[in-house]
Amino acid sequence: MARKETTTVQAGPVILGGQAPIVVQAMTNTDTSDAVETAEQCAALATAGAEMVRVTVNTGKAAAAVPEIKARLLDMGVTAPLIGDFHYNGHTLLREYPPCAEALDKYRINPGNVGKGDAHAAHFAEICALARDGDKALRIGVNAGSLDPELVKKMLDENTMSQVPEAADRIINRCMVQSALQSTEQALALGVREDRIVLSCKSSRPADLIFVNRELSRQTRQPIHLGLTEAGLGMKGIIWSAAAMGVLLEEGIGDTIRVSLTPEPGGSRCDEVYAAQQLLQALALRQFCPTVTSCPGCGRTAGDDFQWLAAETEGYIRSRIPEWRKRRPGVEALTIAVMGCIVNGPGESRAAHIGISLPGRQEHPRCPVYLDGEKTTLLSGTRETVARDFFEILEDYVARHFSEGAQPA
Ligand code: SF4
Repeated sequence: MARKETTTVQAGPVILGGQAPIVVQAMTNTDTSDAVETAEQCAALATAGAEMVRVTVNTGKAAAAVPEIKARLLDMGVTAPLIGDFHYNGHTLLREYPPCAEALDKYRINPGNVGKGDAHAAHFAEICALARDGDKALRIGVNAGSLDPELVKKMLDENTMSQVPEAADRIINRCMVQSALQSTEQALALGVREDRIVLSCKSSRPADLIFVNRELSRQTRQPIHLGLTEAGLGMKGIIWSAAAMGVLLEEGIGDTIRVSLTPEPGGSRCDEVYAAQQLLQALALRQFCPTVTSCPGCGRTAGDDFQWLAAETEGYIRSRIPEWRKRRPGVEALTIAVMGCIVNGPGESRAAHIGISLPGRQEHPRCPVYLDGEKTTLLSGTRETVARDFFEILEDYVARHFSEGAQPA
């Protein structure tokens, strides 16, 4: 389905919405008051492919560190917009730390966490005034877990009085949309420009996320940031995020995404970037890195050399793509096959730009390599030497086919 046309919003050098490419975001989990560690993680996320990076700004020390984080990023050549994530005290921090307000490209606020009663309006107005006067982008980010309780009570009461009451879950979803839309109206009335406002409504349940964002998209022209909040660990987090966001993206909804994974102990924060890239790439909405096709293996697979080589190839590409992106335009479209036996190995290898078919059980212990559909050589030896030789062939192919402006044959 065609991408939904929205207002375009500029956040630093990045355009969100309209027909601009869907932007990958990530968020740090460092203590923001540690400027060195936070800048390093921001840079790692940007190098992995995050096009916007968000940091928690929760204390005076964190706010005071933001200008140094920004300066360190610029020193490292990282120009990805820096977003401040504010809850409860954003109005105070932005007012009391003007260099922080200036260094950030975008403020993310949650209307449910801006203050209660009269304080809500005052705090919200203060943040909007700072965004307006500083010409900053603003994300009004509603979360199911932190909705404005007064709005929830009002809408639940109205539902109870209606002739055909809806389930409470559905009312919570409608509250999220209402909160985002009402806050947008308030921000516009306070002078924040339409081309500075991005909206999000996040839930931890895929069905709710789909419902809420369909409704939101129907009722607004503001760009939408998508994300399944609290997606969870590893496979569960990735699959639930992809199931929810995949439906919405396929319907043309969503201008920027984040995959909110709980990191595995000792795991890389960059996994959330790779997951978001793979989601957009799977839907043919963006192309970030070469695609590796590998079979699942079966009773014909000999040992684990094939699995090992498939994993090594993914890792090799991930390590090389930051430099390739700079020097080898178009390399993102490269396709590579790493296959486990003669049944589908040669066919998939021929269909890729570069393919290698490892020998299955009872096959000769040699690995034919295919370039653009032609068998060009046979590799043999230990799996380490086969990998080394295969990556040399890969590097040579990239150098020959992706010089400035070149595209694959
Ligand atoms: S290519 Fe061979 S090893 Fe891989 S799944 Fe198919 S039959 Fe099994």
